[in-house]
Amino acid sequence: MSAGSERSEQLFARARRVSPGGVHSPVRAFRGVGGTPRFMSGGAAACLRDVDGREYIDFCMAFGPLILGHGDAEVRAAAEGALARGWSLGTAEPYSLELAEFITRRIPWVQSIRFVNSGTEAVMSALRVARAATGRSIILKFEGCYHGHADAMLMRAGSGLAEAPLPDSAGLPAAASQETLVAPLDDEVALEALFASHGARIAAAIIEPLPANYGLLPQRAAFLQALARLAHSHGALLIFDEVISGFRVGFEGYAGLSGIRPDLLTYGKVIGGGFPVGAYGGRRELMELVAPSGPVYQAGTLSANPLAMCAGLAVLQRLQDGSVYRQLEHLGARLEQQLSGLAGLAVQRVGSIFWLCISEQARARTPMRTPQSFPSDAKANFATAFHALLERGIYLAPSGFEVGFLSAAHTEAQIDALSERLTEILRVSN
Ligand code: PMP
Repeated sequence: MSAGSERSEQLFARARRVSPGGVHSPVRAFRGVGGTPRFMSGGAAACLRDVDGREYIDFCMAFGPLILGHGDAEVRAAAEGALARGWSLGTAEPYSLELAEFITRRIPWVQSIRFVNSGTEAVMSALRVARAATGRSIILKFEGCYHGHADAMLMRAGSGLAEAPLPDSAGLPAAASQETLVAPLDDEVALEALFASHGARIAAAIIEPLPANYGLLPQRAAFLQALARLAHSHGALLIFDEVISGFRVGFEGYAGLSGIRPDLLTYGKVIGGGFPVGAYGGRRELMELVAPSGPVYQAGTLSANPLAMCAGLAVLQRLQDGSVYRQLEHLGARLEQQLSGLAGLAVQRVGSIFWLCISEQARARTPMRTPQSFPSDAKANFATAFHALLERGIYLAPSGFEVGFLSAAHTEAQIDALSERLTEILRVSN
């Protein structure tokens, strides 16, 4: 074992004594890959630094928020400005107004927006609005899609739950499962049948339009269009959970790419520049149902925190002319092209989001669009490759179910380093 991990061992032993599993979000504990999590002390540009001073090229990027990389100078200046003025006001203030105007002026289907503190909160709130607007209670979600940890969303979800021995969580009220229907991805026939039998009771269908929590499972346009048509013809709302895809796959997110207009959307990650944030928004008359305008209660002591608002605005300002997305597409295409001939690997990618599926069966199964297509050996193979890459100075999200993220701070040389080292590792193991 390297000296680098000894320090992490000690910290992890201490952490386990004071926090469940030694972490504050399950995937960070490395259960998906085994071993001890590397404790990181900081990050700069596209790199993370561990507590022993070892550097890693970071392809996790805090699970997506850091689209400009760690420590971007403009984002930092914006956050420092907020810090200097006062980092929590608890009042009406101009910073959230600027971010809200910036978004609503550029994304026509977001006519009104409310900021919260996490993606989970955004989803909970959007579901509440949908139930209030329709007077119905059932929510339709999709297998393998993760929408945060609200009770009703912990049914056959992805992300940390993809690793769980049971498909959902303990501690849920019985009502949670009665209020949630789970549909398969990529299957219009199943969707028709579900709407035919339950359509009149469905308040909303919620989907990650680009599912990215069970690997990356891009959906066919026809499937997403069928979902929108069925939801609307049965009087249900369509909610796009764009916590990952929003401002990541393009300025207008996946709604922009697909041309499908959801009634409500949820955001997180990129819009806070790496500070705690979430948001929900959509059609004005739906958002007018939210307190204090309307009867749907939702509040937050730290909501629209000035650090997150100012950092988020700095990020979105950099993204608006499209050049960052072109740069990210160039880097992503380079990675995909370099890895495309490799035996035992399939790469699924949309823009700067990529998923490495390491399995002899993977290539034959592409394009993978459902959790069922996840090959049985992919988890163990990923764990082996993950540790081999870690020892070679490359950090991926520590689970084969998680996707990788590129940032504007990554260089071609760093992309090439991932390709070369992964190629070397897979050649040896084949
Ligand atoms: N929705 C999606 C699509 C997500 O990927 C996540 C988290 N990765 C969430 C919701 C929940 O966001 P948070 O972790 O900020 O609560």
